[in-house]
Parts: sequence; C-alpha cells; structure tokens
Amino acid sequence: MEAGKLVEDVAFNTIRQAVIYVPDDVKAALKKAYANETSETAKTQLKTILDNVEMAEKYQAPVCQDTGTIIFYVKAGAEVKNLHIVEQALIDATRKATKEIPLRPNAVNPFTQKNSGDNTGRFIPFVNWEIVPGGDLELTVMTKGGGSENVCVTGMLVPGEGIKGLKKFAIDAVIKAGAQPCPPTIMGVAVGGGSDIAMKLAKRSLLKPLDEVNLDAEIAQLEREIYEAANMTGIGPMGLGGETTVLGVHVDYAFRHPASFPAAVAFNCWAARRSSARIGADGSVTYLTHKGK
Ligand code: SF4
Repeated sequence: MEAGKLVEDVAFNTIRQAVIYVPDDVKAALKKAYANETSETAKTQLKTILDNVEMAEKYQAPVCQDTGTIIFYVKAGAEVKNLHIVEQALIDATRKATKEIPLRPNAVNPFTQKNSGDNTGRFIPFVNWEIVPGGDLELTVMTKGGGSENVCVTGMLVPGEGIKGLKKFAIDAVIKAGAQPCPPTIMGVAVGGGSDIAMKLAKRSLLKPLDEVNLDAEIAQLEREIYEAANMTGIGPMGLGGETTVLGVHVDYAFRHPASFPAAVAFNCWAARRSSARIGADGSVTYLTHKGK
C-alpha cells in the first residue's frame, strides 16, 4: 500500500476508535466512581455516563455530540522515510472521518466565523512532532472537547510560593471550572519551561492512562494531593454534587527560568478521547490502545 494511504487509513481508524470508545482505564475509573459514590444524584449522573459509553459502543456512534478538535501527537522514528507526506495524510484522514463517522464540523475561522465544514483549517488538525530513534511511526489522536478546553488555564505564578502556589492554582482552576468541563474530569498539571511549554506538557499528560503511576515518588504524591483536594470540592459528576470531580491527575514539569514560575492546568472531560497506533518499518500496523476495535 502507498505510504500516504497507509498513514491516512491508520489515522482514520484512530479517530474512529477515539470518538466511539472511551479508553478502558477511563471506563474502569467511571465504574469505580459509580460504586463508591454515596450521593444518589452523583450515582444517577455516573450511571447515565456509563450508559452513554455503552450505547456509543453498541451503535458505533460518537460518545458525545462534540467530537472535539483533532490534535495529533506523532512520534516519528529518525529512520522513517517520506515524513513529508504525514501531515497531508492526517488532514485527509480528518476529512474522511468528518464525513464517514461522522464528526461534528468544529473548525471555525476566528476572523470570518466561517466553519470549514470538515474539521480542517489553518493549524487544524494540529500536529505535535517528536523525533525518536528507530523506524516506526507512532500516531496518537486526541479529540478535544470544547467544554473542557474552555477552562484550561495558564498562569505565571510567584516563584517564592513554589509547589504550594501550584497546588492552589490547580484547585482554583477546578473550582472556577465547576460544571463546565463535564466532570468527572482528568487534569493535566504542568510547571516550568514557559507559558507555552507548561500548557503543552499539561495537555500532553492527558494522554497518560489513569492507572499509570508517576515514577517520581514526590510527583506521584503531588498528584494524589491535587486529586484528593479536587474531589473535596464537592462539584461532583456533571457539577451536580458528589465526591467524584476528577478521575485522575497527571503532573509534568520542565526546568524554569529563575525569575519565572509558569504553570498550566489542562482538563479533559469524562469523554477523554484518545487512541494510538504504531506503523512499523515493514508496514505492519499495531493498534496500541484500542486493540480489536
Ligand atoms: S466537555 Fe466533553 S463530554 Fe462535555 S460536551 Fe464537550 S466533549 Fe462532550
């Protein structure tokens, strides 16, 4: 098969998997939350979400009407040939997915307010590139809903306040977000680098499975603290009260300028859509997150 067509087909499948199937780790966390919630309202909300997840799988339909903005994360092996064809293949896959799945057209020109109608436009789908050793091409798609995107925040904190300031910033963001990001959410929190770098790291960490424990014990502890504090806000599923406001927290960091303390909080809603696949140097395809779907 021609290389561009192969990338397009794999990208199309990852978009389809992402918008229909909530990842297994998120599904498990929703089920656990349902079992643990004591508030009847929270239980009802979680039951509705779980029914929604099941119906999407049964009818092979997107799990939410907002199929999001399409963002790709590409890990390109340094030995992969013809990398110049990848971006166009991802655009073609996005157009095909919009028509055939279908996806809601979500790409609007901010100046003319015109919707392109096919989820593509300047810098959309956005492609994050990473060059890695080897000959494989790994594609990950995140289809990012508008409600959870609207409450993402970046801030330049006071360096002297340190991690204490970061925790306050993260919890303030949860309280301010309230019901808007369709809780229970997943939080990506990042510190350092610069305002753009912090948000890039925060958003990228939303791709990590919820059951992946941070290898750094201090950061793992910080993640637990933010998780517990966020769930003490009482915002609850869909903002109607309860003990489950977030399903998980991932923290990442970069070194910072001595005078700056950039921080970012990215939210994903319960419909945390992501899917990954690897195209091997020999043209073989392995679906990494949604095997057999
Ligand atoms: S925030 Fe998520 S669940 Fe809520 S409407 Fe948007 S995509 Fe759907």
